[in-house]
Amino acid sequence: MEKVVIIRYAEIHLKGKNRGYFEHIFAVNMEKSLKGIRHEIHRQSGRYLVEGFKENDADLIVSKIKKVFGVHTVSVAYKVNSTLDDIFEAAKLVSEDYGTFKVETHRADKKFLLNSPQISAEIGGRLLESNPNLKVNVHEPDFIINIDVRENGTSLVFNKFESGADGMPVGTAGKGLLLISGGIDSPVAGHMIAKRGMKIEGLHFHSYPYTNMQARQKVNDLSAVLSEYNCGFTLNVVSVKKIQEEIHKNCNGAYMVTLLRRFMMRIAEIIAERNGDQCIITGESLGQVASQTVEGMTSSNAVIKNLPVLRPLCGFDKNEIIDRSRKIGTYEISIQPYEDCCTVFLPDYPIIKPKISDVLQEEAKLDVEGLINDALATLETVEM
Ligand code: ATP
Ligand code: MG
Repeated sequence: MEKVVIIRYAEIHLKGKNRGYFEHIFAVNMEKSLKGIRHEIHRQSGRYLVEGFKENDADLIVSKIKKVFGVHTVSVAYKVNSTLDDIFEAAKLVSEDYGTFKVETHRADKKFLLNSPQISAEIGGRLLESNPNLKVNVHEPDFIINIDVRENGTSLVFNKFESGADGMPVGTAGKGLLLISGGIDSPVAGHMIAKRGMKIEGLHFHSYPYTNMQARQKVNDLSAVLSEYNCGFTLNVVSVKKIQEEIHKNCNGAYMVTLLRRFMMRIAEIIAERNGDQCIITGESLGQVASQTVEGMTSSNAVIKNLPVLRPLCGFDKNEIIDRSRKIGTYEISIQPYEDCCTVFLPDYPIIKPKISDVLQEEAKLDVEGLINDALATLETVEM
């Protein structure tokens, strides 16, 4: 008897003439997620089987595979020879100790001596005999024992379907640059876009020493979480310290965030184009904070020349975003209380609905190009 992991994918995404391409990328992504763990992955009748691993690694494999986009459900199963005795031994192992159950059998091997209902009845009967705390309930069972009798003389026995990440395999929908702060929103935005198959990389702006090293570490930690979904993650880090100092020195303080956002967008587009990223992604959500009005977005968007800016959270409430961040595992990191550069030199009364003519007037007091080049010179890159 051997433990294996069954992977089912959301087949709907993989159909059509690009099917082979999607499946290839999907398989490569699964291999990447299991790097360093001994295993083999085989494709079999519309699903994949992970085999040949150490039994203790089963949970680790499941936790990694569940994060690969394209995975619909995952089950840990026992692989046994297709004999009633061996199937029964496995069924006992996946059975709960108490409660109601039913047995569901799928028989691909039509030469097997019993048909599906007969197998279910036989195994169910033996389970009842072996454990008086079990009862059959075919309508609303507490748990289901699934038996797959396959054509190759082996059967798979399991009782749980765990949900996978769904979505499309990362790498099938181009590349994008995520503006990642240490906050709750941007990691969720990145996850949503990666889920649609886009490989993302990150760009973080800091203002060290006004912002501290813990703030920087927080972004590294968030990037490491995203990396598991994104099959790796490149984090670009740029200092905007000098930009903020110059704005503070020369401009009306109420425009700090508005002006800073325009610098961020310009720098993002330059880095994106250098790296072959096809869009910029932000965690903005309409009306969430003072800088996230449509006027604020107009002002920061106006400096972008070529690329689309994706704002997947625009229509989400904060609670919805928090729910997602908990699910993907970024929430606990995001709520650590370290300052983001946007709160450095924060004015008491930021401009909420900036008029573009006023923004341009303030910006004219700065050497925009020189400051961008200085900022780009601070670029560091970390691979997660
Ligand atoms: P988040 O929770 O992602 O920090 P937020 O609600 O704090 O978002 P803002 O501070 O207005 O909102 O930032 C809006 C978006 O701008 C962020 O979601 C992110 O995409 C980008 N952004 C903000 N600060 C930074 C930063 N320091 N580095 C990179 N991108 C940033
Ligand atoms: Mg923030």
